[in-house]
Amino acid sequence: MPQTSCDVAIVGGSIAGLRAAQTVARHAPDLTIAMISDETYPPYERPPLSKVGLTKPLLLDALIYPAVNDLKSHGVNFMLGTRAEELDVEGRTIRHSSGALQYRSLVVATGCEAVMPPALSGLPDVFSLRRYEDAISFRRALADPLKSVAIVGAGFIGGELASMVANEGRQVALVDLARKPLGRFGDAVFRSYEALHRGAGIELHFGEQVTDVVQQGNGSRVLKLSDGTKVPADVIVVGVGVRPSTEWLKRSGLRLENGIVCDGTLRAADHVFAAGDAVRWPNRRWGADMRVEHWTNAAEQGRVAGVNAANDILGSPLEVCANIPYFWSDQHGVRIQFAGHRAGDEEVAESRNSGGSLFLYRRGEIVTGVLAFERRADFVKIRTMLKSELSWQVVSSLVSREDS
Ligand SMILES: Cc1cc2nc3c(=O)[nH]c(=O)nc-3n(C[C@H](O)[C@H](O)[C@H](O)COP(=O)(O)OP(=O)(O)OC[C@H]3O[C@@H](n4cnc5c(N)ncnc54)[C@H](O)[C@@H]3O)c2cc1C
Repeated sequence: MPQTSCDVAIVGGSIAGLRAAQTVARHAPDLTIAMISDETYPPYERPPLSKVGLTKPLLLDALIYPAVNDLKSHGVNFMLGTRAEELDVEGRTIRHSSGALQYRSLVVATGCEAVMPPALSGLPDVFSLRRYEDAISFRRALADPLKSVAIVGAGFIGGELASMVANEGRQVALVDLARKPLGRFGDAVFRSYEALHRGAGIELHFGEQVTDVVQQGNGSRVLKLSDGTKVPADVIVVGVGVRPSTEWLKRSGLRLENGIVCDGTLRAADHVFAAGDAVRWPNRRWGADMRVEHWTNAAEQGRVAGVNAANDILGSPLEVCANIPYFWSDQHGVRIQFAGHRAGDEEVAESRNSGGSLFLYRRGEIVTGVLAFERRADFVKIRTMLKSELSWQVVSSLVSREDS
């Protein structure tokens, strides 16, 4: 008989949900916690799924967060393989695939799911990558070294996958509809990204649409692109983006507009908080509404939502989430990192040296963000300084001093 009530319910068993559970357990140890997750594994790290080399084992036990054991000892109930199907905000009840769970406060951390273009959906040996089993499936398909590989979508996951396959000495094509993948960070960033992949021998097809998938007479398969090019594609991995997993909330009355709309404290409704990739909230540090699809934000929001879910019960004030969005990506041995906020209209200043490249985003005299290819020490300094308002003068002198 599944548990039917708890103090804090968490829906979603990944990093945001895990951090929320850890925080409640620390902050208010007497509160009972139940986590509902439709995955059959306890919370595990997703970033290694696109980074661990193809010839190395991808072991689930090594990916599961060590904190899971502490939380089990604390008494957290991991309701795995359980799908939340409906939320009754007034009745403080989650209806799920095995019954119903009543809560005093709730953290929704259902994250995102991968988008699969209809033209590729359902075809054999076509994969997206969000969950552990996705990674196992495409690694199995890639086990035959004679199979050609095409990656559709040249964002961070697509770029990491291309790097992973090329690292095994295999030919791989990277296709993207956008003429300048990562161009939202500025043309100079796109050029560095393109050069990184081209330098590693990746076949790039940017600005091209997949128009057909053609099975050839000899058993091989190709992607036909809008410019007529045929790209060998026995195995296709798709990384064209994700969408918030909010279908189950459709009748809940929560505001859903490109994510769960929250206030600055990550509150979505009475006694309902949300955290992670599925959340849209006004980030006061930047005076902007945002939804961030990166690990560190999910972890940070999980902590804030956990504090607030506990404080909602304890009658204590709520904490505001005003963080500095950050991500990293590892491709061809180069660490790409970003911290800050890029609205799109900032000036981009570039600084290159033998250690890599730094791209600084500024609006007038204020620095709004930094992106780095390597230059790890410089990046860390600037990321730390971004915690408060950062003037261009401070950073420009730092950059020019270190370049000379
Ligand atoms: C392959 C890969 C590599 C990545 N690499 C990086 C990286 O290098 N750097 C970086 O910053 N970020 C990276 N990310 C992004 C990062 O992993 C995500 O930002 C992070 O996982 C978001 O966490 P989350 O808890 O918000 O949601 P998710 O991780 O999406 O988890 C949501 C959980 O909720 C569950 N769920 C959804 N709906 C329901 C429901 N109705 N009922 C029950 N459970 C439900 C899902 O099954 C899932 O377990 C990567 C992501 C992937 C997939």
